[in-house]
Amino acid sequence: MDLQRWAAEAVRAVNAWAATHGTVDEHPSMTVDDDRFAAAFHEFTHRLGDNYPFFHPSYAGHMMRAPHPAAAVGHLAAMLINPNNHSFEGGPATGRMEQESVAQLAAMFGFDTHLGHLTSSGTIANLEALYIARELSPGKTILFSEEAHFTHSRMCRVLGVQSQTVPVDSHGRMDVDALERRMRTGQVGTVVATAGTTGLGAVDPVHDILEVAQRYGARVHVDAAYGGFYTLLAGASGPAGLAPEPWQAIARCDSVVIDPHKHGLQPYGCGAVLFREPSVSRFYVHDSPYTYCTPAALHLGEISLECSKSGAAAAALWLTLRLLPATRDGLGKVLAACRTAAVSWASLIESSALLRLYQQPELDIVTWLPVTGETTMSGVDAAVEKVFAEARNAAHPVYLSTFKATRAAFAARHPDLGGDLAEARVVRSVLMKPEFEHYVTDLHMRVEALVRAVGAAGP
Ligand SMILES: *Cc1c(COP(=O)(O)O)cnc(C)c1O
Repeated sequence: MDLQRWAAEAVRAVNAWAATHGTVDEHPSMTVDDDRFAAAFHEFTHRLGDNYPFFHPSYAGHMMRAPHPAAAVGHLAAMLINPNNHSFEGGPATGRMEQESVAQLAAMFGFDTHLGHLTSSGTIANLEALYIARELSPGKTILFSEEAHFTHSRMCRVLGVQSQTVPVDSHGRMDVDALERRMRTGQVGTVVATAGTTGLGAVDPVHDILEVAQRYGARVHVDAAYGGFYTLLAGASGPAGLAPEPWQAIARCDSVVIDPHKHGLQPYGCGAVLFREPSVSRFYVHDSPYTYCTPAALHLGEISLECSKSGAAAAALWLTLRLLPATRDGLGKVLAACRTAAVSWASLIESSALLRLYQQPELDIVTWLPVTGETTMSGVDAAVEKVFAEARNAAHPVYLSTFKATRAAFAARHPDLGGDLAEARVVRSVLMKPEFEHYVTDLHMRVEALVRAVGAAGP
């Protein structure tokens, strides 16, 4: 689709709608003439140039990508109206789009019933899930793995809830035996399983965690902020197919968080939290003298902790899901390309004399180390730093990120490398764009050239 054409069409459509309400003369206090705007805009676009090319496959660093053009157009059109999805009076159209989009996410996870809403981020979505966890099991501990997102320990502190981490296995997944030992204390109210860790893309065994948690009467929350849309590939055939068990188990968990602003092609400002049991709405009850005039089943603001909420974010997600629905043949194809790219790059790395996999990618995060004759963690860490600098300074830069691995994690994967540091960096690339499917060979060759250059330069 032609972004320029449809962005102009979005402005036209909103203007046409506005005209049905009659024209309003602009107040002089708001007037900005085109020449002054041109100067400010020139400076502004120049400033925006100070960015990394998130849209391009030479950007293989953090979880970042440009939004789908449909999301951008949907966001622009709705934002010109500027609905507030706190209540239906804030914008009936985008309120309904939010409900429909959330229902589609609930269906994707196989929830038979649900209560859910969009949030401004995965952080806020997880905060809400942990808040409900606290209300349902007051005084009890919340468990999550050592590889869980840092937001869980931080939000437990915010909520005044006791929390503990559970060790991970040699793939970076929650160790279920260690979990079981923690459960025996009888003090655990909720276990957080991560379906796709932020660092390595490891998928906790949600099915085993659920079985253990149920045996001890604890709840399970799934943090699928990054990995959630991979549910679409559970049990699929081909190289992109994933073992179905952890993903299918999400349907039986108590709550789940997913970030459409990660794998859902949305601009930032779009997370989501879903509860399987709609009656948890009672923990959101509040009585505001000014917000709700019309009785509606439940206003979105009556089931969320945030007040003002972007209607444009809901509009962008709704329009995107109309075109690329949350099905294996819709958005699933985008995810399959990312996953295929990761599998292909991993096999190129395995047969390379210059790179070594840190571990097999489980989703689309590839982690590796340069092979430059190093025999210790400190040597690897120094080589990673050099590759990283070389990649940034190259004539055609490659954008990578790093992941800090502990001595124990290193020893579990690479016992031949001396554990002379408490932690060392490895290179981490999130292949979060389908374009990587046809770009990994190129990326691999460019990265090999960087390692060769660093190795040749010596210490
Ligand atoms: C990104 C992420 C978060 C935090 O989400 P934000 O949208 O960045 O606030 C939480 N958990 C996991 C697993 C994530 O990948």
